[in-house]
Amino acid sequence: MSEPTIKPKPLSRINLNDFDPDFHGNDDKQDVVAATDRLQEKMQALQNRLYAESKQSLLIVLQAMDTGGKDGAIRKVFEGVNPAGVYVKPFKAPTPDELAHDFLWRIHPHVPGKGYIGVFNRSHYEDVLVVRVNNLVPKEVWKRRYDHINNFERTLVDANVRILKFYLHISKAEQKKRLQERLDTPEKNWKFSPGDLPVREQWDAYMDAYAELLERCNTDYARWHIVPANCKWYRDWVITKAIVDTLEDMNPQYPPPAPGLDAIVIPD
Ligand code: AMP
Ligand code: MG
Repeated sequence: MSEPTIKPKPLSRINLNDFDPDFHGNDDKQDVVAATDRLQEKMQALQNRLYAESKQSLLIVLQAMDTGGKDGAIRKVFEGVNPAGVYVKPFKAPTPDELAHDFLWRIHPHVPGKGYIGVFNRSHYEDVLVVRVNNLVPKEVWKRRYDHINNFERTLVDANVRILKFYLHISKAEQKKRLQERLDTPEKNWKFSPGDLPVREQWDAYMDAYAELLERCNTDYARWHIVPANCKWYRDWVITKAIVDTLEDMNPQYPPPAPGLDAIVIPD
């Protein structure tokens, strides 16, 4: 299958117009879905080893515009994974207490500990996205955050946390379609937030903000993956493949058995 995950070189310039949100490879849907299913079986086995080994962890960061598919990807990609070893942390607008601290204060406690996979639904990157676009802090403040983020992520990597960052790239037209679906489908009405409309109007400003963070925070130790996300089954395959590749590279091992186990007889 063609290589779908675009990994620009660290600190290279990015123009999101160069990335086609509709891209979905050359394979049929049913083949890609079957491939995702096979990858999920691998993921389950690898996650079991990661948990048993308890020496390293995996942090997955998901960012996207509204309706970009973060929730759907989480639901699909982690299907069948042992929930004891995986958790999802969504980041919403900060509370007054969170705002009274530095922007990473609320993030750090949710980084997965050894043996765990942690998924951030939004993240510290909101502090150079919504915060930048809406001038929630002065430019001098958010400008410094790219370096802060890189240093923070370096700290985590030094503590055996692998970091995988996905930007789910949808088109503005696809967002319109998905927002309309939320209005038209009773089971999806709850997902519609009128606040998404003013954000949609700021689309271009968000694309600029994404381009800059994808450029400045795409380090060799914490790469961004730009995922074509108009096509949901392709999106899920891309993310699943990247996670499985990463877990294989982490190569978690079951701990060796305690000495003398083979001599133990369980009494009746
Ligand atoms: P949702 O993910 O749709 O539940 O929405 C969460 C909302 O929280 C989005 O509108 C985000 O832009 C907002 N949000 C998340 N992090 C921050 C932040 N650091 N500052 C301001 N708003 C944020
Ligand atoms: Mg929302």
